[in-house]
Order: sequence, then structure tokens, then C-alpha cells
Amino acid sequence: MSGEVVSPGEGEVFDIELEEELLEANRRLAEENRRMLDDLGVKAIDVMGSIGSGKTSLIERLIELHDRRERVAVLCGDLTTTIDMERIKRHGVKVLQINTGKECHLDANLVGKALRRLELKGVETLFIENVGNLICPAEFPLGAHKRVVVVSITEGEYTPLKHPYIFMDADIAVINKIDLAQAMGINPDKVAENVRKVAPDVDVIKTSCKTGEGVRDVAEALGIR
Ligand code: MG
Ligand code: ZN
Repeated sequence: MSGEVVSPGEGEVFDIELEEELLEANRRLAEENRRMLDDLGVKAIDVMGSIGSGKTSLIERLIELHDRRERVAVLCGDLTTTIDMERIKRHGVKVLQINTGKECHLDANLVGKALRRLELKGVETLFIENVGNLICPAEFPLGAHKRVVVVSITEGEYTPLKHPYIFMDADIAVINKIDLAQAMGINPDKVAENVRKVAPDVDVIKTSCKTGEGVRDVAEALGIR
């Protein structure tokens, strides 16, 4: 047989119930995180996207624009490395690495633990860099106030169509590495069009974290200084 589609079948009730319970528990913890952040006056931004799309670079650029870095903190999510934390550290902001082990996404429980560890008093903006993945982060809200998904020109045109849920769930879609558009033969407007096809309400912003183009628009859309 060829040219046919295989989909998850019916009758897998047990798996579905278990998954629903897990997602429900995560939602409750996300609400707790949100309350904690609100009490402290911290605005949290969940930054999602593939490995190499430019999540860390975008956060670095946004930190550079911030006029009071002592009021910025960052959580970096990754399986086992501290590469991103080391990069963020150089900007003189508070940063913690969350290592998920084998999990391919951050969840509200892990983020809650990190929030309790991080000294958040006086912090105004918290960036949470999610694990590089376009699938499950959409299903696991963390309690952040805004969700950003970063998609790079080097991924081609079809990422939004192939991974619609993460775009539907985001407030802002950042199309990054537009400085490479010509070399890659990819039209950033085409990517933007594909984002709007799956998520008509999402704010689409084109950036180059290399040159800094468009980053100020992201800061503005996020309402951060
Ligand atoms: Mg990164
Ligand atoms: Zn995952």
C-alpha cells in the first residue's frame, strides 16, 4: 500500500484519558505560576520555536534594548546543556537553566520550581526559553503572559502549515533570519502568509537578530521596555 494516510485510531481511550489528566494538571500549575508572577508584578514571556530558529538570540537582543537589565530575568530550557544560559549570563541578567532530561518541552511544574529558585523581587520581565520543539510546547502552557514562536527563514516556507498548533497558540510569530532570505531563496512574506493561514489573529513580525532589524517591533508588541 502506498499513498495513504495513517492516523491514530479510535479505541485508545485509556491513553487519551491519561493524557487529559496530565494536561489538566499542567493547566492548574500554570495558573498557579501566573498568580505567583502577577503577585510579584513580573511579566513572563514564553519563547518557543525550533532548535536554531533564534530563540536565544532574540532574547539577547531584547535584553540589549531593555533600559534596566537588573529588572530582567531568564529561564533557559534545554535537555542537558547550559549553552544558552552561558550566552545569556554575558548580558548581566539573572538566569537559570532548566534541564528537562529527556523531556522535549518545558512544563508548568518545572517552571514553577525554577520560579521559586529565582529571586524575582524587583524583576519586571521574565523570558522563558522553551526547549527547541514545535509540537508539545503548544499543549503545555507555563503561566506566561505572552507566547512568542520564532521561525527561521532557513526552515523553509512550510513550518507554519506543518506545525499549526504552536502558531495558533502564540500571540506573536517572529520570522527570523530575514537577512538570509535572498541566499535561501525564501520570501519572508510567503512565510508570513502561511502563518496567517493557520493563525489569522497572531501578530507577525519579521526580524534579523543578526542585524537587529525588527527587534524593536517585537519589544513593542510585547509591551516591554
Ligand atoms: Mg536557544
Ligand atoms: Zn515534548
